[in-house]
Amino acid sequence: MPDRYAILEELRLTPVWRLRARVAEVGVITESSVPAATSDAATVPAASAPSASAMTASAPAVISSAAIAPSADSPSGSDRMARIAALSWNEFAGDVAACTACALCKTRQRAVPGVGDPHAQWLFVGEAPGAEEDAKGEPFVGQAGRLLDNMLAALAMKRGENVYIANVLKCRPPGNRTPTPLESESCMPYLDRQIALIKPTLIVALGKSAASTLLNVDASIASLRGRVHRYRGVPLIVTYHPAYLLRNLPDKAKAWEDLCFARATMRARQVGGNLQSPAAAPK
Ligand code: URA
Repeated sequence: MPDRYAILEELRLTPVWRLRARVAEVGVITESSVPAATSDAATVPAASAPSASAMTASAPAVISSAAIAPSADSPSGSDRMARIAALSWNEFAGDVAACTACALCKTRQRAVPGVGDPHAQWLFVGEAPGAEEDAKGEPFVGQAGRLLDNMLAALAMKRGENVYIANVLKCRPPGNRTPTPLESESCMPYLDRQIALIKPTLIVALGKSAASTLLNVDASIASLRGRVHRYRGVPLIVTYHPAYLLRNLPDKAKAWEDLCFARATMRARQVGGNLQSPAAAPK
């Protein structure tokens, strides 16, 4: 019987990422849940991952946290919702950077609106920025982000190329604690606007926090994976959060199944196939 590492290697799920001190701090991510790094992918650090492919006249190819003109935040909920729902890409990052809707604005270094191809078919949604994301203004740039990049590379994908990466929360909760329902509720109009602008073909929710918020359920990742859900009409697949996978290496194989399921679902969408049976769902 081959040992576990040999199996992982055969599945191209190596190198196995090991949790180091910095990631241990992310231990507040509480869900039960991601895919595997490939050896090729391991050579693609997040910071050097290529950006979006093409510029268009109407929108920059990569929308990042480089804020444009900040706008004032309306105290009124409905005014604010209406304003956010009408934001253009050029206004988006500035509006997020100026947001004072919840107390996280007081502790953030930088808001983290999202990054990627504004016309991406793939939208990956995480929980909230961590310390490195807060410092850089870009989502998933820490160790969990490197694993996410490796997961993308395993699918022959790169951040910025037909991929957009965002979080439910645009500001870091102190100590990387789990977002409160009020924080998620205050920030969701921004993610909803991103979804309306991007019009993704598929959303991949990374971890229990993002999945629970988007699906409005309190359920384990294990019970949600392997099915195509919907968020605002967009097909949504759930998988483990990269930070969780860094601490739970055996679940990388499950996350890899989820990504293969997501790729099959995307392909079925692209050829107009039946969404409910793109591939054998992972167990
Ligand atoms: N975890 C998240 O959920 N999002 C990030 O951007 C980084 C870590």
